[in-house]
Amino acid sequence: MSAEDYDVVVVGSCMTDLVSQAPRLPRVGETIHGHKFFIGFGGKGANQCVQAARMGAKTAMVCKVGKDVFGDNYIQNFKNNGISTDYVEQTSDAATGAASIIVNDAGENAIVIVAGANMLLGDPELQKAQGALNHAKVMICQLEISPDTSLNALRAARKHQVRTIFNPAPAFPDLSPEFYKLSDIFCCNESEAEILMGKTVATSEDAGKVALELLRRGCGSVIVTLGSQGCVVLSSQDSHPKHIPTTSVTAVDTTGAGDSFIGALAFYLAHYPSLPLEEVARRANVVASFSVQKEGTQTSFPYQKDLRAELL
Ligand code: ADP
Repeated sequence: MSAEDYDVVVVGSCMTDLVSQAPRLPRVGETIHGHKFFIGFGGKGANQCVQAARMGAKTAMVCKVGKDVFGDNYIQNFKNNGISTDYVEQTSDAATGAASIIVNDAGENAIVIVAGANMLLGDPELQKAQGALNHAKVMICQLEISPDTSLNALRAARKHQVRTIFNPAPAFPDLSPEFYKLSDIFCCNESEAEILMGKTVATSEDAGKVALELLRRGCGSVIVTLGSQGCVVLSSQDSHPKHIPTTSVTAVDTTGAGDSFIGALAFYLAHYPSLPLEEVARRANVVASFSVQKEGTQTSFPYQKDLRAELL
């Protein structure tokens, strides 16, 4: 195994979450006092990579951050999680992606996301990472970077028989048909499925119908996550969607549950390539159910040591 043989390579986003908690959201032109401030590591790509790494996958992140203190801190965060930063580029042309979040006492929020350096990730960075990309067991991408970059990463992975997980988040309706065809596993949540298909997805039956339609669009296999209801899986060898319920837990904060699920999914596909997708999804449900029992995003993701041996 060479230094470039990774289990999981993620081509995606990094965001710094700047979170202020206040009694209420300010009105236009108003300044109010909040009671708590914290900085969190986020971005769907980075979150998914962190979860895969914490489960024991050998991981690399392909992303772009700013040449600023948030970028420096994010690189250190990757290192702290054992993720290779060989393909994390720093640029002076934009700031590290940031989400300014205000949460009121009712738990409602107002968020401004500035994608910044994430949108500058492009073909030169993919070229530089091609050794890692072409030899990975699994490659994941999402839509928090330029869709063209995600598409090119998927094309490169397909060319080299790297198994792809595509997470169409944030979703938009007129997604290029190539995304479906290049997804070995297409994994979305119910609201993303609604945006892509233009129909309501409220039950596991709805999710099953959507999964069949996604398979017809060219996806290999499909997983639709359904929050506390678990997920629906439609594997390429099957014509019947299966509902996989999750563990019943007391949820404290569900932020990032979908990213925990996808990171776990990638770990299982890399480590147990012939495990049936239904079993992979069952285990990923359990991992994600851990993440909803703690506050925060990456701070809530379990490590190998937190999981029972039969989950690893
Ligand atoms: P997203 O975070 O993208 O909105 P979901 O809400 O569908 O994604 O959650 C992803 C996965 O996290 C679910 O499939 C499930 O395994 C787990 N999960 C989410 N919410 C809960 C919950 N309340 N109880 C147990 N598991 C949950």
